[in-house]
Amino acid sequence: MGSLTQSSKRSITGEDISSLKSLLSSTNATVLTPQDEAYGTSIKRWSSAAQKPAGVVVVPTNADEVASVVKYATDHGIDLAVKGGGHSTAGVSSTDGGLLIDLNSKMRHVDVDLDKKLFIIQGGAAWGDVDQAGVKHGLATVGGTVADTGVGGLTLGGGYGWLSGQKGLAIDNLVECTIVLATGEIKKASEQENPDLFWALQGAGQNFGVVTEFVLKAYDQGDVFAGMLIYPPTPEIIEKVVAATNDLYTPDANGKTKVAGRGAGGIAFARPPPAEGKVMLMAVIIYFGTEAEAKEKYKALYDIGPVVDTTAMVSYPVINTILAPPIGLRASMKGTSFTMPIRAGFVEDVLREYTKFTDGNDDTGISLVLWEVYDPNQVVAHDEVGSFANRGWHLNGMICPIWTKQEHDQACRQWARDMTALFKTELEAQAKTTGTGVDGGVGLRGKKGATMLYGNYDQYDEKSRDIFGENYPRLQQLKARYDPTNMFNKLFGVTPLA
Ligand SMILES: Cc1cc2nc3c(=O)[nH]c(=O)nc-3n(C[C@H](O)[C@H](O)[C@H](O)COP(=O)(O)OP(=O)(O)OC[C@H]3O[C@@H](n4cnc5c(N)ncnc54)[C@H](O)[C@@H]3O)c2cc1C
Repeated sequence: MGSLTQSSKRSITGEDISSLKSLLSSTNATVLTPQDEAYGTSIKRWSSAAQKPAGVVVVPTNADEVASVVKYATDHGIDLAVKGGGHSTAGVSSTDGGLLIDLNSKMRHVDVDLDKKLFIIQGGAAWGDVDQAGVKHGLATVGGTVADTGVGGLTLGGGYGWLSGQKGLAIDNLVECTIVLATGEIKKASEQENPDLFWALQGAGQNFGVVTEFVLKAYDQGDVFAGMLIYPPTPEIIEKVVAATNDLYTPDANGKTKVAGRGAGGIAFARPPPAEGKVMLMAVIIYFGTEAEAKEKYKALYDIGPVVDTTAMVSYPVINTILAPPIGLRASMKGTSFTMPIRAGFVEDVLREYTKFTDGNDDTGISLVLWEVYDPNQVVAHDEVGSFANRGWHLNGMICPIWTKQEHDQACRQWARDMTALFKTELEAQAKTTGTGVDGGVGLRGKKGATMLYGNYDQYDEKSRDIFGENYPRLQQLKARYDPTNMFNKLFGVTPLA
């Protein structure tokens, strides 16, 4: 996978295991080897294709324990992986024979500071942990749209959520991180303390250390109108669903959309279980308002006559369970991007390819193609925040093949590449026909010289320089200061400046 830097670090030996056990003997951290039952849980990943056999696993309970382990790995040049929520499909939170720090087993506590309206989140928490802590106080923040996704990887790589239309990315709401550096030092990073490190963590964070605590802004949040409308994907229905979506989410000449930050969702092709294996077109609606307002706003989608309608007023945590693919199958995620308005003919092309692929291999039936829609104004407005370089008026598309048999790995990944090539051609065609995008040219690169691709969705073929664009040289300088021996090198690696 092109995004990954080859590690020159070594594997774990029996001697390392003994040393780690004695190093941690007076702490609450656990050292696990393949003989231990809990080892299996630690190396599990959302996609089983991303699972690797670590030489040893350490399950820490606090930053000091993480610091001892990271220092040991650095001092001995050991290959180190860090597991947050375990959702990367590229194997970047796994190590083959090295040392795995599993934050997800015992470092997922969430505190809520009601006075300051902040979430204080341990580095291995999942977004569902944050949602549950918040809902008790009527609070929420920008977080993953699937509750089992990790706060760690999602936030450090940018972080889009259903609230992005109102509050930008997760990193735009990040107040402070506590981080263990490669030396084992524990530092705070915020706009006030180590601001350069904070800048690096806001987009390229997985390259700089182990974040043991995230502090994120919390916002008042009541119930939400949300759910899915499902249709048979006939050309007439596709035309109408796309037209309704374009009407709501296409920015006008002043950049305003009709959903005005309060609506988000997407359109997708999948074979949802109630449709007994048939390909269906799904429109996801998340509306931060009342049912009456939503029914009025999305009237055109209701008027088409969906065969299934799951929309209702629900509590905030429920909206992050609507699109929840199964955990533990083989899966891959390949990001792409598109600009509004969507062309119905393009959606039909994608349908044809989706159907051909899933018809041709019955192991791939729960695969998904998704166009995510939301109001990009707030994401664009935070243009100067962090090292994240993919902001713009483009939206994220996602190709997500899901399968079970290892022999299908290559074909499934190739299909995802082929599908994104379709999106790329469409983007290029739009650039040719429209001439100008809102950013002054909907080409393949955004204004910071990065590709218009969300790194957390790609983790596949893109290179670090494509993801970080013109921020890459500054990241190299910071890397030389904070991680000169490149211990944290698995996802969109940054070569420290010599
Ligand atoms: C089902 C699903 C839904 C998704 N939904 C969204 C979404 O709504 N919005 C969105 O923006 N993205 C989404 N993503 C993409 C997601 O952002 C990435 O997969 C991300 O890498 C997941 O983070 P994680 O902690 O779960 O993964 P992991 O595999 O644990 O980690 C990914 C990377 O981050 C590093 N990392 C994790 N935690 C820490 C930490 N505390 N300190 C230092 N490094 C750490 C790991 O070492 C690794 O390099 C989704 C992915 C999946 C599979």
